[in-house]
Amino acid sequence: MSIFSRIAEGEIPSYKCAEDERFYAFLDINPVAEGHTLVIPRREVDYIFDLDDEELSALHVFAARVARAVGRAVPCRKVGMAVLGLEVPHAHIHLIPLQGEGDMDFRKEKLHLSDERMRDIAARIAEEFAK
Ligand code: AMP
Repeated sequence: MSIFSRIAEGEIPSYKCAEDERFYAFLDINPVAEGHTLVIPRREVDYIFDLDDEELSALHVFAARVARAVGRAVPCRKVGMAVLGLEVPHAHIHLIPLQGEGDMDFRKEKLHLSDERMRDIAARIAEEFAK
């Protein structure tokens, strides 16, 4: 089972932001910006573009709902979206609150946020998602 499947199953803790029967969203533990969120399908598939059209569409519709919640919870100009998948072999979408294009630079040093801060951000996103 992938680490992200174990997170979605609750076996490994995460800063949960949103979920439904098919998808799960949680904070990236090495954020490039405050509110950096990952959205995954519960079904374990490595490469996002191996998802069939229906699942790929549904993942994006769910990610859009999460992105709107992130945008309301975290001050930013817009929420950006990226797909890398070079590290974890379980399809996922990165949602990143943007102030400028540099916020999408995955090579820069990651933020070090306290557990309390991460909990607070996730709780705010979850609250907005539930609205
Ligand atoms: P990539 O597969 O290249 O899209 O990168 C995987 C992303 O998952 C990285 O941004 C990691 O910081 C993030 N990540 C890895 N393990 C965890 C975890 N246990 N909880 C939250 N995020 C994680």
